[in-house]
Amino acid sequence: MANRTIKVQNQSTKNDAVITELPAACADERAAVEFMEKQRWGGFPACPHCGDIDVYQMKNLNTGQRQANYRWRCHGCKQQFSVRVGTVFEDSRIPLRHWCYAFWRASTSKKGVSALEIKRQTSLSYKSALFMLHRIQFAMQDVHTTMNKLSGDVEVDEVYIGGKPRFKLFGKSAPRKDKPAVVALVERGGCVHAQPVANVTGKTLKDVIRKNVEISARILTDELQAYSGLEKEFAGGHETVCHPRGEYARGDVTTNTVEGFFSIVRRGLDGIYHSVSKEYLPLYLNEFSFRYDFRNLDDGERTRLAIRRANGKRLTYKEQIE
Ligand SMILES: [Zn+2]
Repeated sequence: MANRTIKVQNQSTKNDAVITELPAACADERAAVEFMEKQRWGGFPACPHCGDIDVYQMKNLNTGQRQANYRWRCHGCKQQFSVRVGTVFEDSRIPLRHWCYAFWRASTSKKGVSALEIKRQTSLSYKSALFMLHRIQFAMQDVHTTMNKLSGDVEVDEVYIGGKPRFKLFGKSAPRKDKPAVVALVERGGCVHAQPVANVTGKTLKDVIRKNVEISARILTDELQAYSGLEKEFAGGHETVCHPRGEYARGDVTTNTVEGFFSIVRRGLDGIYHSVSKEYLPLYLNEFSFRYDFRNLDDGERTRLAIRRANGKRLTYKEQIE
């Protein structure tokens, strides 16, 4: 820990409260606990067991200081709790200062942070660093995705992850059995939805689009045959760009936004994560989507939001991953 150096990464946000508190929270356990408490409860701690706000810090009777395990007690239900209860880090013994560091880096590094980098900076084992990273990626998942559909101009594209840039045969895509396919939908000026798909057939791709896009939207894709017919389902119509003919933009008919998202994902997955198994690909896509969706927040606010999203995710994490 002693030789860790932490730089405030974005000078333009150095006055932001979260950013100024993060370096201390990454270096000292007490500061980390109090930082997490502040982000999670916003100054009003509540019992995670019963919701009561009549709670107090447990103190060491001899010193009058907070107990070394930083627990609270609830007057309502008489149970004890810490800031970890009910979050993705509840069942972990990793010090919270390392969680702070990993949340910070995963929320602010454009291409993401690798478990190896977290290992180097925290002196945790690689296994612990990876455990932490996957939990943070899970926390970043937007639980309301199905309620907030994309609208307006929505660009859709699909790629194979972990390989050379694809080339498409006109009207059909060459099969790449060994590489997972990912489809991404980006609302211009808005959010992204990205997920792995088992194949790139019309049925699969259209199901993803129907589930995540308002019917009032205009859909923009390349000329993959799988997308044909969408103009009958979306009020804004369906326009295509023909890449094989060397056409990349016709007025505002482009897929440059979604291709920009994929180029960040590619640089991250190829350059930082090297190889991500199919099983964990959805988690990495959560992370890239989270940073993309909140690209206009400053680094501190984005980190705070990621930490807030850790609330209530513990049980869902167990159901989905373990
Ligand atoms: Zn309680």
